[in-house]
Amino acid sequence: MDKKFENRIQNPLTQYRQDGYSKQLQEYPGIQYEMEPIPDCGEKSYKGNGRLQGRKALITGGDSGIGRAVAIAYAREGADIAINYMDSERKDVDSLVELLEKESKKVVLIPGDLTDEKFCRKMVKEAHEKLGGLDTLALVAGKQVSKTDIEEITTEQLTDTFNVNIFSLFWTVQEALSLLPAGATIITTSSIQAYQPSPDLLDYAATKSAIIAFTRGLAKQIASKGIRANSVAPGPIWTPLQISGGQQQEKLPKFGQQTPLKRAGQPAELASVYVFLASQESSYVTAEVYGVTGGHHLG
Ligand code: NAD
Ligand code: MG
Repeated sequence: MDKKFENRIQNPLTQYRQDGYSKQLQEYPGIQYEMEPIPDCGEKSYKGNGRLQGRKALITGGDSGIGRAVAIAYAREGADIAINYMDSERKDVDSLVELLEKESKKVVLIPGDLTDEKFCRKMVKEAHEKLGGLDTLALVAGKQVSKTDIEEITTEQLTDTFNVNIFSLFWTVQEALSLLPAGATIITTSSIQAYQPSPDLLDYAATKSAIIAFTRGLAKQIASKGIRANSVAPGPIWTPLQISGGQQQEKLPKFGQQTPLKRAGQPAELASVYVFLASQESSYVTAEVYGVTGGHHLG
């Protein structure tokens, strides 16, 4: 191969880890710093090209996994970012802030619990105030608890999952709409589970379907304001969600290997879709769902 192109093209089958993962269990919501191996959120690989220069973005779940990859990418593309996370995730946040501050990026921290309506509303106001504006919502936070029997799903689990995954989107968007200018973008995070629900993720899959209906309806409602809304639907991605109760432990050794690309994805592989959907490059894209699934296509 021509030396010039050697770094640009890579076999996706072998680009990231193909082996499975060892069983490991952490308390929800998990710390990625303590995972083996640590997920790749693009810390070393993501290179920005000014695609979000001057933008001001609120990212929920920005401490770890997909949200962390989005935070790194948005910051390196030139956006000022505000990150929401849970108090217990401080260790992941500290390492992220250290990384981005070395690169002179602006990062505002807004810890808090998305099951709390008052907090969701406060989070939006604070992001707007501290960033000096707000034009991008990357709503990535999510809760997933695996239960093989519907009778084992407690009302507390059901309520928490719906609160984090869908209710918080309503509260956050309600509070943000009057602050968002024309050209602003909203990106939600659905899942392959909305299309091919696993038998052990009934409540989670239901919320991920709801997110798609919410995002598409919202996109049509706010199109006249010049604000776009889209969703990303990941397949199996190696993140703390999977090792903090979101997955049956016995599935970890072969996690992701049933996809056509025969491996789990890494959070870094999602970042550019969130960048595209936030940026002006996607100006004619709204009410859309983008799959990043390793080949388990949507629909
Ligand atoms: P992750 O654990 O790194 O991120 C989830 C984040 O949600 C946590 O970091 C936490 O900050 C946040 N969160 C959870 N409960 C919260 C609460 N009550 N208050 C505030 N924040 C809360 O895992 P991830 O896999 O990167 O998850 C990101 C999104 O991707 C989620 O919406 C998830 O459903 C979705 N997703 C993940 C996969 C996958 O295979 N990992 C597949 C499809 C969809
Ligand atoms: Mg986390």
